[in-house]
Amino acid sequence: MGRRGKSDPGTDMNRFSVENYERPVLDTPNGTDKIFLHSCCAPCASEVMDALAASEIETTIFFYNPNIHPRDEYEIRKQENIRYAEKLGMEFIDGDYNAKDWFDRTKGMEDEPERGIRCTACFDMRFEVTADYAAEKGFNLISSTLGISRWKNMDQINGCGERAAARHEGMEYWTFNWRKQGGAQRMIEISKNEEFYQQEYCGCVYSLRDTNAWRESRGREKVKRKVKFYGRDAVIDEKDS
Ligand code: SF4
Repeated sequence: MGRRGKSDPGTDMNRFSVENYERPVLDTPNGTDKIFLHSCCAPCASEVMDALAASEIETTIFFYNPNIHPRDEYEIRKQENIRYAEKLGMEFIDGDYNAKDWFDRTKGMEDEPERGIRCTACFDMRFEVTADYAAEKGFNLISSTLGISRWKNMDQINGCGERAAARHEGMEYWTFNWRKQGGAQRMIEISKNEEFYQQEYCGCVYSLRDTNAWRESRGREKVKRKVKFYGRDAVIDEKDS
């Protein structure tokens, strides 16, 4: 077999795998060594949490996602995140499940597509509370795990994060691109290793509705909640999650 070049995808896949990847030591943008991290779910959070742990950045996980519907879906996603935070020895803060406020905030945007204005309102709400809580706890750096999914609009997420951080003097939102250097690949690998619950829609009732409509239009089965786990079941099309 010939030597593989740098651009060979096989080599890159291997180099970026959990086993082989040499994690760089990350420097925070404002020099602090602690971060208040908004987390959306265990699969997205896992790679980010590992990267921060490897850089010895003290991380507090803030699970604040009143968008997730219904409540039992919210609970299973939260419990998976708690499990991984405990494994890494990170503090986990359980935010409110003020779903009614989320519905109020997104009223009139029910039929907006994903990555549209409803999602901006959704991120704004989650990040504003994150920033406020972080300020109260004495943090001056926040970020979110939301941006690691390639189906999310990173500019949209970063814009919301920066707006939220600007509510507090001296606070910064870290716009680090967690997808790069194989981050998205490792996210799946860690999820399989940990057998995390595998959600099949973004989170809100409208994303559940739209994912089902999208599947139906392709003759596929509707979303099955609370039954699929990475590493035990075939990984679903990432577009669904
Ligand atoms: S699709 Fe996802 S990001 Fe957009 S509003 Fe629903 S839960 Fe929030």
